[in-house]
Amino acid sequence: MIQLTSADKLTNAISKARTVKPLVRVNRFGSYTVINKATGATYTVECAKRDGKRFASCSCVAGTRGKACYHVAAAVSAHMQLAAERAALNF
Ligand SMILES: [Zn+2]
Repeated sequence: MIQLTSADKLTNAISKARTVKPLVRVNRFGSYTVINKATGATYTVECAKRDGKRFASCSCVAGTRGKACYHVAAAVSAHMQLAAERAALNF
């Protein structure tokens, strides 16, 4: 489980995600499948909000060790977009 405190924690992961450009599939709001198109590897990323804090977890080796991986960066950006769309519909 990774606590998402600030964007700079994800800076390296975000730039890796920009290079790898993985495919992010939405399982449901808060659950994403991140696919590395080059290797075919798939990982599950879960995003959750607890006590006003944001958390993410990834099924990859780095993610299970609490490191911010590019799968989390990719999924979080999809999650933020979805959350913004949901908020926009909730006027
Ligand atoms: Zn990962």
